Amino acid sequence: MDASRTDYNAIVDSWIEQLEQSASDATQLETLFLSECYWRDALALTWDIQTLCNPAEICDILAPALIASEATEFKIDQLDNPPALVSRIGTDTIEAFFTFQTKTGRNRGIVRLCPDASDVGAYKAWTILTTLEELKGFEEKKGANRPTGKSYSDGFHGPNWLDQRQAAKAYADYEPTVVIIGGGQAGLATSARLTQLGIDNLIVDKHERIGDNWRNRYHSLTLHNQVKVNHMPYMPFPSTWPTYIPKDMLANWFEAYVDAMELNYWAGTEVVDGAYDDAAQHWQLNLKKSDGSTRTLMPRHIVMATGASGIANIPKIPTIGNYKGTIQHSSTYKNGTQWKGKKVLVLGTGSSGHDIAQDLHSNGADVTMIQRNSTMIVDIEPSAQLPYAFYDSGPSVDDCDLIALSMPVPLARRAHVEFTRQTTEIDKVMLDGLKKVGFKLNYGDENTGWQFKYLTHGGGYYFNVGCSDLLIEGKVGLLQYDQIETFSTTGIALEDGTSLEADLVVLATGYKSQEAVVEQLFGENVAQRVGPIWGFGDGLELRNMYCRTNQPGLWFIAGSLAQCRINSKFLGLQIKALVEDLIR
Ligand SMILES: Cc1cc2nc3c(=O)[nH]c(=O)nc-3n(C[C@H](O)[C@H](O)[C@H](O)COP(=O)(O)OP(=O)(O)OC[C@H]3O[C@@H](n4cnc5c(N)ncnc54)[C@H](O)[C@@H]3O)c2cc1C
Repeated sequence: MDASRTDYNAIVDSWIEQLEQSASDATQLETLFLSECYWRDALALTWDIQTLCNPAEICDILAPALIASEATEFKIDQLDNPPALVSRIGTDTIEAFFTFQTKTGRNRGIVRLCPDASDVGAYKAWTILTTLEELKGFEEKKGANRPTGKSYSDGFHGPNWLDQRQAAKAYADYEPTVVIIGGGQAGLATSARLTQLGIDNLIVDKHERIGDNWRNRYHSLTLHNQVKVNHMPYMPFPSTWPTYIPKDMLANWFEAYVDAMELNYWAGTEVVDGAYDDAAQHWQLNLKKSDGSTRTLMPRHIVMATGASGIANIPKIPTIGNYKGTIQHSSTYKNGTQWKGKKVLVLGTGSSGHDIAQDLHSNGADVTMIQRNSTMIVDIEPSAQLPYAFYDSGPSVDDCDLIALSMPVPLARRAHVEFTRQTTEIDKVMLDGLKKVGFKLNYGDENTGWQFKYLTHGGGYYFNVGCSDLLIEGKVGLLQYDQIETFSTTGIALEDGTSLEADLVVLATGYKSQEAVVEQLFGENVAQRVGPIWGFGDGLELRNMYCRTNQPGLWFIAGSLAQCRINSKFLGLQIKALVEDLIR
């Protein structure tokens, strides 16, 4: 592609103009797209989060959506991100950010244009993203639109900010519109968005203290992604913070975040069960506080932000009943201090298995890992950081988030096959070392790597922060599960006639799916109505995540700090639109 920078503007301008003009003519609209093309809409035009592929499918939905939403005033962003030639997934493309209006919202988008080999001189869309930025009439109260603060000093003896905050958090005589179950990053990000949109909401979490979901993890934990991708909405981490944030630092930030973002949070409060009243269109949610008291709330909406670690998965392991030592699931493991000088078997080679094995080893235990399934291993640096390199490429975090959103799943898969190729090359010495000690490796479905393992299975990989080196050096032992003949009262007997003693067996066998949590809290009918949660199934969006579900008033949010930052916005906007009767 040899067009000059001015040409990029002209090319994108002409394309955008034709998009606006072709709204009433799906056949004409189709000519604007390459035969391989993707349109992802996040609420802007369809009030849905969806990805469509191929010109006909796109235009079937896009043409009427442009008209119904009264989309207009498409403008290229010339200021912050002028159209530029970039390389995405090895393809040179003109990338342009744009804004547009609909009758209900102000929106942003990104279009990528490439020359059409079958139509000389024409530039057509390879990908287009349209995303709702804010609702007209319900703009967030920030920046120039910030509250004046005068209401806190009205009348000398009237309630000041603190009085108002305490009253808001008490819910003494009224119901929150939304209850968010879980106060990790997913819950906090959702609450911050809803609060900014003026939707009353309460977070409940069974942990005693805000941030305990991180505090209770293993002693030496620092985040696996670099700080640049981990920011929370509205309040980025200080620029003085370390590249890899330690768990307790993040946990304390969560406390500060709740305070600074004026979020309502009940710690030490477990949701026991709940039921939806179809006629009254609200939930009855039963809570139990750590002091033994109970409370029933009746919110219109529930957001499940309970993370992946809801219910421990303890698989049926033949003969383990013979073993008379201590058996512990990874969810209850705190640290290895009490196991100094003891023998420990860790069953499972995902992240928890590796982290626990390393923690036990560093506390002086004699550890052997047992591998049941092949696992993907990626060195924490630089390999695990490759997919986030574009967060260093210049645009703001918000704009990088838009770039991330604009990558449809089929192209993201392609990108991750390439990342996997690169990481296996970079990590070759480590991977060869692992193979040598008998560790079974894999690289994800069709080599799509760890990111798609996470998005489809929620795990199945380990970012090496040292345990792989311990395995290679023989400082942590390794056994394959099929080498075990039987569990004995004191350990395991192996097929080759030898045996291994163990004082502790840790089951690092993961967690049950979110469906199981829904069933446990709300019953089988609700779980069936919602269906599978997370993973893609046959589709191109995570199932039941960040969007309306078949169960009225039930929402789900999970994922990395970045996913929660990005998608909490859409979740918040949808709840606001429902509360304001903009959608039904
Ligand atoms: C070693 C390690 C490093 C990581 N590094 C990164 C990183 O760099 N970047 C990144 O984005 N992610 C990272 N992650 C992964 C991810 O961010 C976390 O797993 C994260 O905790 C998920 O957040 P969440 O809010 O979805 O769920 P959680 O943090 O699991 O929070 C869920 C909350 O729900 C509460 N809860 C559940 N059920 C109930 C109930 N019935 N009633 C009341 N409360 C309930 C729980 O108490 C819990 O506090 C890392 C994970 C690990 C283990």
